[in-house]
Amino acid sequence: IEDKLDEVRFVEPVTTDGRRIHLAGNIELPEDVAHVVENGAEGIGLYRTEFFFINRDTLPSEDEQYEAYAQVARTIKPHSVIVRTLDIGGDKFLSHLQIPQEMNPFLGWRAIRFCLARQDVFKTQLRAILRASAEGNVKIMYPMISGVKEVLDANALLEQCKNELRAEGKAFDEHISTGAMIEVPSAALTADRIAEEVDFLSIGTNDLIQYSIAVDRVNERIAYLYEPTHPAILQLIKLTAEAAHRKGIWCGICGEMGGEITLTPLLIGLGIDEISTGSIQVPFIKQAIRLFSHQEAQQLAQEVMQMHYPQEILDHCKAFAQRHY
Ligand code: PEP
Ligand code: MG
Repeated sequence: IEDKLDEVRFVEPVTTDGRRIHLAGNIELPEDVAHVVENGAEGIGLYRTEFFFINRDTLPSEDEQYEAYAQVARTIKPHSVIVRTLDIGGDKFLSHLQIPQEMNPFLGWRAIRFCLARQDVFKTQLRAILRASAEGNVKIMYPMISGVKEVLDANALLEQCKNELRAEGKAFDEHISTGAMIEVPSAALTADRIAEEVDFLSIGTNDLIQYSIAVDRVNERIAYLYEPTHPAILQLIKLTAEAAHRKGIWCGICGEMGGEITLTPLLIGLGIDEISTGSIQVPFIKQAIRLFSHQEAQQLAQEVMQMHYPQEILDHCKAFAQRHY
């Protein structure tokens, strides 16, 4: 794969039998957009906004956030940017928000749970994202959704923000898309219902693996249990993608698992429509996609779904990659 990387920037991520995959990049700072473009990604599938909130003493204002999101939207145009709303808590803390110490921060007051409780913080961000949507193709994504109620509540606040902006005569995209991250098993298992309330689903495998296998994603001692090819993870990915397709929406993946070329055929075989990964990995994933057929990928997915051991599944994926790459 390596020696073809330069030319691969300018070709499409399409399988040998013509299935077009959407390939996007993940960013954490507005400055990262340049790398996404250079590496030939089609837009930003995950803009992690918490880096904008940490390492400072006060909350970023609506205008400050608007400037940052609008800059990203303008740079990535005509491609889209999916702005993920604040995902703090867990391993990402904000000293000035005075989040109390918790026994289980990863299971605690974080992400959408925090935002639905601190509506001042959430609405400021939603308004900034909405205003940025007048400058390009912007989509909104909610992190850590555990059930459809949180999506309904978040969408209701988004409607409030739209009404406010309308009344103030401020421009935004009336048809802005919203999406839910699927990174909690309860969300994957109820993806059918969640898919009715959003325009896309994006699987956050970093957290989905952590919560499904009950393995802390930052604890070295149990890192051996953190296996993306655990059959449970594959099942959750498969049923999330199927639920999305039944409701006529697309399903992406934006966790680290999407950046593993060995697993690209498996993910596509499980029904993933979009992969969003670090810019560095984008050319590798694109090249990989062009080396197998969708039909072969589906066959591979079917084969591994019969297997019981993560290692056995990984070995099977490696053998597939060796035959094709
Ligand atoms: C994930 O959980 O897979 C994800 C993409 O979000 P983060 O890594 O920011 O938690
Ligand atoms: Mg996550």
